[in-house]
Amino acid sequence: MSTPVSAQDVKGIIPAGSKGPVSMPIVVAVPKEMAPGEHRVATVPEVVQKLTKSGYEVRIEHDAGTGAFYPDDLYIAAGAKIASCPAELLNGARIVLRVQPPTVADVDQLAEGTIVIGFMNPANNLEAIARMRDRKVTAFALELVPRITRAQSMDALSSQATAGGYVAAILGADNCPKFLPMLTTAAGTIRPAIVLILGAGVAGLMAIATAKRLGALVEAYDVRRAAGEQVRSVGAKFLELEINAEGQGGYARELTPEEKAQEQQMVSAAVARADIVITTAAIPGRRAPLLVTKETVATMRPGAVIVDLAAESGGNCELTQFGKTIREHGVIIIGPQNLPARVSFHSSLMYAKNLQSFLALLVDKDGMLIKEFTDEILAASLLVHAGDVRHGPTRDLLSGGTP
Ligand code: NAD
Repeated sequence: MSTPVSAQDVKGIIPAGSKGPVSMPIVVAVPKEMAPGEHRVATVPEVVQKLTKSGYEVRIEHDAGTGAFYPDDLYIAAGAKIASCPAELLNGARIVLRVQPPTVADVDQLAEGTIVIGFMNPANNLEAIARMRDRKVTAFALELVPRITRAQSMDALSSQATAGGYVAAILGADNCPKFLPMLTTAAGTIRPAIVLILGAGVAGLMAIATAKRLGALVEAYDVRRAAGEQVRSVGAKFLELEINAEGQGGYARELTPEEKAQEQQMVSAAVARADIVITTAAIPGRRAPLLVTKETVATMRPGAVIVDLAAESGGNCELTQFGKTIREHGVIIIGPQNLPARVSFHSSLMYAKNLQSFLALLVDKDGMLIKEFTDEILAASLLVHAGDVRHGPTRDLLSGGTP
């Protein structure tokens, strides 16, 4: 393990003891993601080229991009340096760009004052967050970037949900024993498959668009009535219910028990006639809503497929098992884990561009790191800083309360 370099040594911009403001490049380090099944990388050569042009020194851990098909030599050609081990990577690094949250062991390698940017999965990563607090590491959580127009270019939840929705539709088609498009052939006419999408947020809309391109008949449902227009604009039929559960910030609110019963009834009828059901319904900070009961699964046709994108937060289908594919009543139920990692080349590219936009907020017009994170986007996504957990719900969880 490396000896951590003190923040004073690496303040990065003005070297200790120097007389004037001699600019030193800000070192941005990108580790190889070590979480099982994680093939993405936090930056890609195209973005490295822009960062080095802007004056950053970019260091990439050896093989960090291999899982996403960005070999070391492309990073070198783009101006990055390759570090052979984490110690070499982090020595003097001011900013660390990650995809998955750091582990406690990762945090222990960071010098005080290092800025880490990536997904932090705060509710499930409390130990590492406490360690970042104690080691006075600064962490920005991309999940906390507000969904405002100015932040669209750094909205990693959206870019990765887009990738997830695409893969979900492909997975559904791959597991379906039917053609998706209508076919008129000498051997007869084939009717198009029916694909039902439950939850028409970012992932759902991408799944709809992908299933449409494959030629299926697509129906979709969301509790937010505003989603109807978006669903129709990508050529699918929107299933209407007398509920509008638009909550704060464009997200859905939890339904009342009466509304839930009404929803279940309509959803069950639609599920029963579908060949592929892709579920993406989520409510921030809550268990995923239960939309497909085991009784409803029993009414589906044998050979039907459910792809439950909400598997990680409890599943929209009662029978889903996270990370597994099971078969019940002849129905294949897929509870996928980390779908964006299956299109690692493009999901990494989109993620890297999100981070590039985010990084731009952290430097002033002279390319110096800013000290006050007062910008609305930075303030909202600042999870840990200077020995404090800045995100209230995470602070509550750490002190043993409910968020
Ligand atoms: P999400 O992942 O939190 O949820 C996915 C979808 O599930 C949402 O559309 C939600 O309404 C739906 N849902 C929740 N409970 C449901 C239920 N019981 N039945 C059916 N559907 C249910 O959402 P997301 O994809 O992250 O997007 C949430 C919202 O944020 C959307 O309105 C989206 O357009 C908006 N958004 C805005 C911006 C921006 O302005 N920058 C960026 C991204 C998303």
